[in-house]
Amino acid sequence: MPMECPRCSVWNPDVARFCRNCGLGLVVGPEGILGAGRAPHANPLACPAGFEPIRQAADMFFHWEATGGGAPLLGTEPLALTVFNGGYDLAQVVLHVCGTDRAGQPLFEIEREIEEWRRGGQVRLEIASYELPDRVHALNVVLIAAEFGQPE
Ligand SMILES: [Zn+2]
Repeated sequence: MPMECPRCSVWNPDVARFCRNCGLGLVVGPEGILGAGRAPHANPLACPAGFEPIRQAADMFFHWEATGGGAPLLGTEPLALTVFNGGYDLAQVVLHVCGTDRAGQPLFEIEREIEEWRRGGQVRLEIASYELPDRVHALNVVLIAAEFGQPE
């Protein structure tokens, strides 16, 4: 079956591994060809030191710390979350930030949107202390939705 590129809408032969028009990797997942934010880039940028992968995403990473610069466990300080895009230019990105306590129990889940997120771009997302319960031990970031950015 021919495949329509989710980024540029050009049709490709079913044997194609990359879009013949825009070069998008045509990786097939459980729900068809992987779309924006989930299709791995053919030439991804390296993950910055100390960053972890964002879940259910390709080539996206995050790092977090208390804005005071101390250990990110104090609970009463805002958190600075930095996310890095090592893949394609993206837009309308929706991320869920989930915090857990020491026992791994979920404490909160916050949604954050990034209107435009270029390849190589680092975005800082602050989470205010009033949004945080005490004793945040670990943070996970999950990709919920994304669109491909406009070509330059
Ligand atoms: Zn394409």
